[in-house]
Amino acid sequence: MTSYYGVIGNRDYIKLKGQRTPFWEFLDVQPDGWLSSLVYKRTDVPRDRPMIWDCGAWSYRLSDEPDYSPKECADLYQQFAPPGSLVIAPDHMLIPGVDVARRREINLRNATEFLEVVSPEHKPMATVHGVTIEERVDAAVAYAKLGYQHIALGGMAAQAGKKELATEIAVALRAAVPKVHLHILGLSSPEYASRWKRIGIDSFDGSSHFKQAFTGGLFYTRDGTRLEKHQAARPGNDECGGIVAPECSCRACSILRAEGIDTRTYGSNENNMGRAAHNMNILMQAHAAAMSEHIVLVACCGKKLPNAAKAKDIYRSELFIKSRRYAEQHGDRWLILSAKHGVVDPEDVIEPYDETLNDKSAAERRVWSAKVAEQLQKHRHDRLTVLAGGAYCGWTDGFNAERPMQGLGIGQQLQYLLQHTEQQPNLF
Ligand SMILES: [Zn+2]
Repeated sequence: MTSYYGVIGNRDYIKLKGQRTPFWEFLDVQPDGWLSSLVYKRTDVPRDRPMIWDCGAWSYRLSDEPDYSPKECADLYQQFAPPGSLVIAPDHMLIPGVDVARRREINLRNATEFLEVVSPEHKPMATVHGVTIEERVDAAVAYAKLGYQHIALGGMAAQAGKKELATEIAVALRAAVPKVHLHILGLSSPEYASRWKRIGIDSFDGSSHFKQAFTGGLFYTRDGTRLEKHQAARPGNDECGGIVAPECSCRACSILRAEGIDTRTYGSNENNMGRAAHNMNILMQAHAAAMSEHIVLVACCGKKLPNAAKAKDIYRSELFIKSRRYAEQHGDRWLILSAKHGVVDPEDVIEPYDETLNDKSAAERRVWSAKVAEQLQKHRHDRLTVLAGGAYCGWTDGFNAERPMQGLGIGQQLQYLLQHTEQQPNLF
């Protein structure tokens, strides 16, 4: 699963009727986690979501040394970061005009020392910086060797416009440290969200929706996965144009509108903060749309090759082979429902086995269904098409699953697959 972490800064309140309410109470849904910084030293953070804490490397990027030693940093995290938080070792950004070689040394030394002093209540995280892809890969491998199980990729916001480069970096890091939790700092557009999911990045954050709400006065709307940005209107100034964006019914806009505050206009801090919360609502809707995949699930069958083979090749029934073709043509990806293994990746090599759910008791089927539901947790928001008989569908409650061949006999199923599959071109 690829998680989105919202960013908590220092001016995150909306004041209504004399009462200050944090902006996250104006969100339609909460993000998967939150990221905050020692720069703000806030203690009033949500406690019901995982958190990442950073040491604010951007704020001291022009200083010779990071603002904190590893020990000072660990002590500050102890004061501010709730138990269980991921906490980032004090790093130094590799930016133009600095002594890059020296900063590389600082980063490695600090990451090493930080492991000695970090509180056992916290999970240490190291940030990868680099000028080239190779350098970033080397840093990630070095941190993993030190024992880091959580690594962040930093300095990426500067690459925001270079999508292919940023993607190439993420792919290289994912391959270099396949087992660590990989977080990308500062790139959270819907398009990036979709890429991060495909690459298998564990989490990411970003705050440009926030900055744009304030400094740019931009109000988001969404067309599918695409964000559209409208200029907020200045009240009473028709020369700059009136309100151009449609009225919105998200939680932020609704609550504020009832108080006479329009998030589509400039005005008080409440207009701007409301717009920031609104933008985050729209961004998260776009994330959900961008990260949703269409996955086709195909049931295993009795007829198999006599030897170990890739799962996609080991099953030999006509129904399986036609279902596989359908899955490859219609799905972003596909998976196999195996009576023996539960959910199997088509590329996994497995041994032949002699098991089918059709022979199993109701209790055995329940155990199997619970295991499959667990294995498919990360696809809870994806669109699932299931090509399988009823015995293989006991797990679908709570999933967005459809069964286009439900109730059809075997002959009708083959017919359905034939009708909904492009045939190989006939060369004769
Ligand atoms: Zn809204």
